[in-house]
Amino acid sequence: MFVDGVLKAAGDLRPVHDRWTGAVLGSVALDSAADVDHAVRSVAGRRRTLPAEQRSRILGRCAELLRERSDEFAARSTAESGVCRRETTREVARACANLEVAAAEAVRLRGETIPVPGAARLAVTVPEPVGVVAAITPFNRPLNQVVVKLAPAIAAGCAVVLKPSERTPLTALAFAELLLAAGLPAELLAVVTGDPRTVGPALAGHPLVDMVTFTGSVPAGRAVAAAAAGRKLLLELGGNDPLIVLDDADLDRAATLAADGAFATSGQSCRGIKRVIVTEAVADEFVPRLVAAAAAKRCGDPHDPATDLGPLIDEAAAAGVLDRVHAAVAAGADLLLGGTRKEALVPPTVLDRVPADAVLVREETFGPVAPVIRVRDADEAVAVANSTAYGLQAGVLTGDSDLFWRIAARLRVGAVNLGEGPQYDSPHIPFGGVKASGYGREGMRYAIHEMSVTKTMTVPYGG
Ligand code: NAD
Repeated sequence: MFVDGVLKAAGDLRPVHDRWTGAVLGSVALDSAADVDHAVRSVAGRRRTLPAEQRSRILGRCAELLRERSDEFAARSTAESGVCRRETTREVARACANLEVAAAEAVRLRGETIPVPGAARLAVTVPEPVGVVAAITPFNRPLNQVVVKLAPAIAAGCAVVLKPSERTPLTALAFAELLLAAGLPAELLAVVTGDPRTVGPALAGHPLVDMVTFTGSVPAGRAVAAAAAGRKLLLELGGNDPLIVLDDADLDRAATLAADGAFATSGQSCRGIKRVIVTEAVADEFVPRLVAAAAAKRCGDPHDPATDLGPLIDEAAAAGVLDRVHAAVAAGADLLLGGTRKEALVPPTVLDRVPADAVLVREETFGPVAPVIRVRDADEAVAVANSTAYGLQAGVLTGDSDLFWRIAARLRVGAVNLGEGPQYDSPHIPFGGVKASGYGREGMRYAIHEMSVTKTMTVPYGG
């Protein structure tokens, strides 16, 4: 565990392996509930909030240090997550951008003055840090998932206890050390690791925690929400994001976007394309283009800079993806590419004519699968898009902007991108879901807002 600014071996140790070579990369502690209590108390002591300029400087300096050590962080992220090096290099660049935006936003926090109608009083509001934030993060993009929690918490003036995924803890611990090297006082950050069934509830339910921010699956999110009852909560959960391809779409671009969105991070991304919803009029022309774009992706050693898809996080995950693919075929889908696996490695898989109620597309399938669902028209596309429990993001490909606005108003998701896939994002814009995909918004400015509370002072005024 990382507490009081140093790594301490608390409890039993567990080795962490390279997902491709099996080499031991390091080891982490299996913290106990008592260790979690110690970590929370280490950041929950009485302290003054750092001035905004200092918070901004720390975040900016951290971005510089991360950029200097970009190769090392990308290599570590690839080794422990199996995500290919090409993508972890982009992940580090995105993490730097997130830190820079948080640094800029830290000095933009402000409240408002409200002349109270009918009373000779003025109200003045200021944002204050929510207090102690517990941050729980998933395995995919293990650096950036941590940065999107820690950077806004620091910008808002909060103290944080981080619990990274037990599958990718080393990146999180290395980033915590980087924050301290950038000047973050040790009493503002602790990291706990270990079995989520012990560490998770002990952290989310700790009486000194003021807010829990969680990113991960729906079942774990619901367990966290129960443990965190009574605290402020932000949940970024799973997605089942559609790319909707309509009659007048540019089909070459549609195929490229579909393949990039379905196979990035080997399909292990919350905002990856999980369903490709295509109108019948263009499906016969679109599907061969998608198969060609998928077949062009290289699958294998994630450390090789030419690789597009590394292995899934473990063999059980790969077996689960294949079970759903085979069930969809049994239900009438046509398997056009892939549908195999070698241990945890699953090549790009494309299916056509997938029934909209197949488990493959009804649930979130976290693997490199592009299932095409054929529909009559835009109305049916919206109905199919809305037919799952999830509602994170969507992409719509059409040249008809009136139609786009009509569709955007009817899609039950957190964001709709015209001419882009659901995977589009930026540190400057809100990100988050509706329905089972969670609630609350990330995106730097919005996450800082979530981690702040409004204090109101009223004073006599005029009259
Ligand atoms: P997961 O739910 O298994 O784990 C996420 C985190 O929760 C980990 O740190 C894990 O240790 C912890 N955890 C698990 N059970 C817990 C419990 N009972 N109490 C407290 N903590 C617990 O998810 P994963 O497999 O690491 O990541 C994949 C999932 O995350 C997918 O569903 C994906 O869509 C989702 N995700 C969502 C977003 C988003 O922003 N919406 C981003 C990335 C990933």
